[in-house]
Amino acid sequence: MADAAPTEIRKLFILLVGYEIIRKSGCIRGEQPHIVLAVPICCYLMETARGFVLYDTGLSSEGLDDPVAARARYVNATFPLPPVVLPEHELLPQLAKLGVAPGDITEIVLSHAHGDHTGHLRDFRNARITIQRQEYEAAMADRGRVNFADYSDPSITWNIVDGDMALMPGLDLVLTRGHQPGHQSAVIRLERDGVKILTGDVADLLENFERELIGGAMDDPAALASIRRLNAIARETGGELIPLHDPLFVQRARLAPDHYA
Ligand SMILES: [Zn+2]
Repeated sequence: MADAAPTEIRKLFILLVGYEIIRKSGCIRGEQPHIVLAVPICCYLMETARGFVLYDTGLSSEGLDDPVAARARYVNATFPLPPVVLPEHELLPQLAKLGVAPGDITEIVLSHAHGDHTGHLRDFRNARITIQRQEYEAAMADRGRVNFADYSDPSITWNIVDGDMALMPGLDLVLTRGHQPGHQSAVIRLERDGVKILTGDVADLLENFERELIGGAMDDPAALASIRRLNAIARETGGELIPLHDPLFVQRARLAPDHYA
């Protein structure tokens, strides 16, 4: 991950594709549950020497306009209200504004299989979908989960991987278990802007990384180890953590159509 190594990543776009309403105790364990946050849902488009790559695909807005169905599907002890996807958050129109059609996306990397990261998968017909084996197996075993339909399509071309790997020069995938069995983050090298670390759901807020505190996790020690690992990569590379669900970060991020290069 040395900065001098060649990179095939030309541009990185942050796409804001919706919001979730979550108790802060869902983001940071032990925080007061009556503090409620609207946290962004983001996904990321990379323009590369080998075509367009997406890291995560956001949340499908299908069914959100039916309040009864949306409550039944999304509301639980952590999320007091359903998610919000406004017309300006919709993923496909945002890609179209960048001149990118769904068929132009040839690689998708999934951080993990939760519904706010795997929407619209069926629309990307030409993409190979890279997922960690532990995540793939857990997702396929748990067919009742939200948005299973988005990744159950038999025509999906899966690229099932085991552990850390370089997907292409300048794009490294890092196994960061804890939130889910096979969660993965991405370390991106850019010529001008340096190293950007897509945390995915290792933790929701920059505060998690600064204080080294976990949030929602199925394996607490692994989740803490993953927070510390991404902090170490940031230190070693001089890279910047790009949190996917941080409501403060998103307000100062370069959002699409602006980008990092
Ligand atoms: Zn998430």
